[in-house]
Order: sequence, then C-alpha cells, then structure tokens
Amino acid sequence: MKNITHWIDGARTEVPGGGRTSEVFDPATGEVAGHVHLASVEEVDAAVASALAAYPAWRDSSLVRRSQVLFRFRELLHANRDELARLISAEHGKVHSDALGEVARGIEVVEFACGIPHLLKGGFSEGVSTRVDSYSIRQPLGVVAGITPFNFPAMVPMWMFPVAIAAGNSFVLKPSERDPSASLLLAELWKEAGLPDGVFTVVQGDKVAVDRLLGHPDVKAVSFVGSTPVARYVYETGTAAGKRVQALGGAKNHMLVLPDADLDLVADAAVSAGFGSAGERCMAISVVLAVDPVGDELVDKIVSRVSALTVGPGDDPASEMGPLVTGAHRDKVVSYLDLGVSEGAKLVVDGRLTPVRGGATAEETPGFWLGPTVLDHVPADSRVHREEIFGPVLSVVRVSSYEEGLDLINGGEYGNGTAVFTNDGGAARRFQNEVEVGMVGINVPIPVPMAFYSFGGWKASLFGDTHVHGTEGVHFYTRGKVVTSRWLDPSHGGVNLGFPTNR
Ligand code: NAD
Repeated sequence: MKNITHWIDGARTEVPGGGRTSEVFDPATGEVAGHVHLASVEEVDAAVASALAAYPAWRDSSLVRRSQVLFRFRELLHANRDELARLISAEHGKVHSDALGEVARGIEVVEFACGIPHLLKGGFSEGVSTRVDSYSIRQPLGVVAGITPFNFPAMVPMWMFPVAIAAGNSFVLKPSERDPSASLLLAELWKEAGLPDGVFTVVQGDKVAVDRLLGHPDVKAVSFVGSTPVARYVYETGTAAGKRVQALGGAKNHMLVLPDADLDLVADAAVSAGFGSAGERCMAISVVLAVDPVGDELVDKIVSRVSALTVGPGDDPASEMGPLVTGAHRDKVVSYLDLGVSEGAKLVVDGRLTPVRGGATAEETPGFWLGPTVLDHVPADSRVHREEIFGPVLSVVRVSSYEEGLDLINGGEYGNGTAVFTNDGGAARRFQNEVEVGMVGINVPIPVPMAFYSFGGWKASLFGDTHVHGTEGVHFYTRGKVVTSRWLDPSHGGVNLGFPTNR
C-alpha cells in the first residue's frame, strides 16, 4: 500500500496523528493501491509558511542561476520520464506511451521557462522627457498556488510551475487526490536539480485544502484546471479574496467535417482524438459534426477502426486504451449510453461489450472499464450532445451545412478546442475566423498549443483573462512596474504643481 504524503520544506511530510486520507485505486483492477493524505487548514498553513519563507532568497537569486536550476530539472525529467509515466499510468489508467506523451509536453514548458532571462526583459526608453528615462520591469508575486485535475497529473502542473518558479515565485501545488503520486516524484526532481527547499511545495488534499489556499492571505495568485463548476467557484472565491486567478474549466470539443474532406484521414483523427486516454482529455474530440452527405460513409470508417482497438491495462504495451480513473466516473460515463438511446441516438458501438485484454467484456471485468463507444444520429438538443461526458464516448451529429455545424459549436456552453476537416483553404480560414473557441485545429484534431504559445479556451472553459504558459503565463506570474527616472543637473527648475507632461 502506498502512503502518499505532502511535500513541505523539501521532504515528504507525514500528517502528525494520522489525519484524513482518501483511497487511491489501480483503475485496471479496481483495487485500492494506497492512501493519500488530505490536508487540514493547519497543514496548508504550514505549507504556505514554508513557501513564504523560501520566497525572498529565491526571488533575489539571479536570473541565470534560476535558469540553470530549470535546465537541470529538465535533464532529470528526461532521465526519469519512464518512472514518471509509470506512476501516472498506475493511478490514472492511461497507457504508458500516452503517459510518456504527457511528460514530453510538460517538459516543453520547462524548456520554455529555461529562457526566463529573455522572457523577463523589460523595455527602456531613453529621453522620454528632457533628461528623463523610462523603463519597465516585471517582478514575481510571492507565493502562488496551482490546483490541478486528475487527467494530466504531470502535464497540467507543468503548465504552471516551471513558469511560476522561473519567474521567481514560490509554488504550492494541490494535485488531484485521485492520482497524486506523480507530484512527489516531481518534487524530488526539483530538489535534486538544486531548487531551494520551500520553493516547490505539494499539499495533498480536497476541498478543505482548496478553500484554505483560496482564502490564505499569503497566496497571491491561483491557477486552476478542472471542471467548470469548480473553476467558476475557484475564480469567484479567489478574486473576491483579492487574488489573481486563472481557472480553466471543462470542454465539449467538436470536429466539423466538410464534404470535401479526406474521410480516411478524418476517421483516423476522430478515433485517435476521441478515444486516446479513454476520452479523459480536455481537448478530446467528443462530437463529430458530419456535414451531409458524408455521415454514413464516415460512421462506417469510424466503426471499423474502433472495432480494431485493443483495450487493456496501461502497463501492457499491446494496450491502446486503458480503463477510466474511478468506478464512480466510469458509472457516470456509462449512464450516458442509455440516456443517449432514450434521447433518440443510435448506439452503433457499445463499449460495455468491448473485450478487455481480448477476454471478458468491459462490464464483466474487474476494474473501471468501458470500451470505446459510438453514438450516431445524436440529436443536437440532447444532453449527450450538450454535456461534457469525459469518457470514451464519441457522438456523431448529422448537419446539413457548414453554417448549421458552426452554429452548434458557437451555441455550446464551452469553447475549449475544435477542429475543421476540409481541403478547402477558404472554408478553413472562414472557420478559424468565425468559431468562438480558444484553440482551433485545421485538419488537426487535438490542437494543443506549443509551450511558447498559451493554452486556454473561451466561455465556460476559462474564467479569467489569462491563458496558461507562453507569454501569458509569464504575465500571470509577474506584475509590471514602470520606472521614470531623472538624474538632476544644475538646470533643475524648482517647484511645479502642474501635471507632469513631456518637455
Ligand atoms: P475537478 O473539478 O473534479 O477537480 C479539479 C481539482 O479541484 C482537484 O484538485 C480537486 O481536488 C479540486 N476540487 C474538486 N471539487 C472541488 C470543490 N467542490 N471545491 C474545491 N475544489 C474542488 O476535475 P477533475 O475531475 O479532476 O478533472 C476533469 C475536468 O477537468 C474535466 O471537466 C476537464 O474538462 C477539465 N480539464 C480542463 C482542462 C482545460 O485546459 N480547460 C484541462 C484538463 C482538464
């Protein structure tokens, strides 16, 4: 049994006297694999106090020194990527190669943050007025917190902390209590890289820890990624307490397939983006909008590919798709299958019947299994179409035109990711201009921006106005200062009560 602790002051920290814990499962068997500690208010306070104590020295360490720690951290991540992926896969359920991909995308943000000396360069204007110069600088905020979801236990925290720490802040991570182990290996690697104790802290926990971080006077900014109701709550509570907050929420991502698209390419993309990581990705494609007349042919191609997928445990190299994260989540996802049928959809592939490891069906196999599921002719006004399911369920909605498809995307609650598949450059350009979504793919089903751009959606997929990583991330974790400086000379002209204007 794993005992998953906090990481405070550069060490795994046990809860004195036991404290609350939560079960952590092996999703492939459904068995309890360990327990994670759930921080009390006092434990969060201890973590923040340690982060605050470490802050001044880290803030004052040179840009080059900070950057060197980042470079070492990057090398250690590379060296330990298999172990990190193994920890992710064991608690999340995703297959090892997918977990390696998550680690690689996280490392890209570390690589971006290695360039912090360049990213923090300010501007300088000589002679804005007579013998007056002006320059801008950006400074860290202090202690900042990150609250992260279960679906990317390494990558989503790495969207945040490399940039925050490189910019000179102390960072307190509150990972998902469903797959918390990766956070501790990341903490150990930071220590090995030479990061001073207290600059990176992990508090394991649930709503108690989140609420204390949101109310703590020494926490200056909060980055959140998770479901929309919690994102909205974190944004409203954190900003009401005077904090800077960026809160990324849920998603329902559509792929619009125009009649001129290459349907084999589309079917490959829809199956990859719909069922990778069992659909538990905020950028997963969950709805295919098939513009007439491609629907029947496209669904045939999707079904033949889905039937060939191998479902099995994440640590089996033959597996292409693993289990869902918990039994409760699997049951919620499964409930959408009967709901979809009752709403008028046609269940063309039923993932409950998918063989696991080529043996018993998903619903008969111990563990949190559901195979890839396809619902066709999903009505546009159904819950299955409108709500985030966050599992291996791909809905196909038939539409008669580009305009009808676009209206469905723009009429939705979320605006995280979307994609158009077409060979018509004009149509693609029109789509990128007209669609109300933050991340757009053109013949790319999962358009996750590179680390040097910023990641974030629109509407109920993001509360706040700053996306994560890239230059927006640097701005989020720093505040600007503009200095106006004049070195007097003997011509100094005495008192003047007028408003300063240029002379
Ligand atoms: P979640 O909202 O349940 O949990 C996210 C975090 O909030 C966790 O750390 C959890 O401990 C905490 N939390 C949960 N309930 C809380 C409450 N009532 N009060 C305070 N804190 C609470 O999300 P999840 O199930 O872990 O992750 C899946 C969700 O995250 C999906 O909706 C997915 O779309 C979203 N997501 C979004 C993005 C994005 O970039 N927009 C990326 C990844 C995941």
